[in-house]
Amino acid sequence: MTKTDEVLDELKMASVAFMNSFFPFEYEDTTYRLVDYYVAFPWIKCEVCYNYPIQYVSVVRSSDGQDLHLCDECIDLITKRRVSEWFKKFRAKNETVTSNRRYIDGIDSILTAHKRRPFAIQMPEKDLDELQKTLEQLCNGFEPSRKQQQLAECYMELSGFI
Ligand SMILES: [Zn+2]
Repeated sequence: MTKTDEVLDELKMASVAFMNSFFPFEYEDTTYRLVDYYVAFPWIKCEVCYNYPIQYVSVVRSSDGQDLHLCDECIDLITKRRVSEWFKKFRAKNETVTSNRRYIDGIDSILTAHKRRPFAIQMPEKDLDELQKTLEQLCNGFEPSRKQQQLAECYMELSGFI
């Protein structure tokens, strides 16, 4: 399992824990749980407020198997939680981590190799610090700066991870 897969797994567990913290919930005398949150294409209509078009859709399923498709306003109102905001952040983080897979796995390999054989890769302390900082930043779902990318590229090339 690569470092990126590990980070994505942790994110997934965090989303499950978040959903379990308030689902299932009651709405109009029926018990629902959230089963999906996705970007609709083509856009659809909210089945609670009939707002159209909605792009971001929460899918809740009742205990007897009926699905309801909800807009962001409705899911937040019904659950009294900021579900939509949480999922937008979650999606953005997921996308950033996925798109930076190369850097996350690359830097992780360099740091692991350096820990094992500190003198095999000549690395000044400040570069080591910067790479550790960059990895932490990437794992938290933030984009690397151009300078951080260049430093990572440089060491990835040196260590033969490209
Ligand atoms: Zn709605």
